[in-house]
Amino acid sequence: MKKTLLHICCAPCSITCIDTLRSEDIEPVGYWFNPNIHPVTEYRARRDCLIKYAEDIGMELRVNDFYGLRDFVRAIYPALDERCGVCYRMRAEETAKFAAENGFDSFCTTLLVSPYQNHELLRKTAEEAAKKYGVEFLYRDFRPRFREGQAKARELGLYMQKYCGCVFSEEERYIKKKK
Ligand code: SF4
Repeated sequence: MKKTLLHICCAPCSITCIDTLRSEDIEPVGYWFNPNIHPVTEYRARRDCLIKYAEDIGMELRVNDFYGLRDFVRAIYPALDERCGVCYRMRAEETAKFAAENGFDSFCTTLLVSPYQNHELLRKTAEEAAKKYGVEFLYRDFRPRFREGQAKARELGLYMQKYCGCVFSEEERYIKKKK
């Protein structure tokens, strides 16, 4: 069986991604690396929910516990309105690097389930990271199962976040701005 490292942004988004991969006989190993999530209370809530969910479904999870507030802000400044591409790259490159260094055949990300992300930019960024580190990017469009995953997460009582992750997306939760 091929080894796939699945970058996970949060437990609710991971549900149908994991189910889809498992239905294809791919057993993913989860990877937590999200230095974009602020503040620290939110970061911990999402991380801890995922750790518990991974245990419940019997999935191996590697936790890269880096709360990267300063590195993240430095990386996205000054082009704050173009921050998502930088944010995708930070996470895709770290995941691709970890996958290559730890004997995985490929990597994937649960960000591909969200209709709120820039899917094509995300795909392109992950493909570039794959090339850079010499590991395959396992592309899947999980979006058709997004609502199903969110409904299941609510049923399971998982922690549901109210914004994408960074402090700017937290602001947009209250002040509507075009991303
Ligand atoms: S809005 Fe989401 S994807 Fe974009 S920079 Fe913030 S956390 Fe990252």
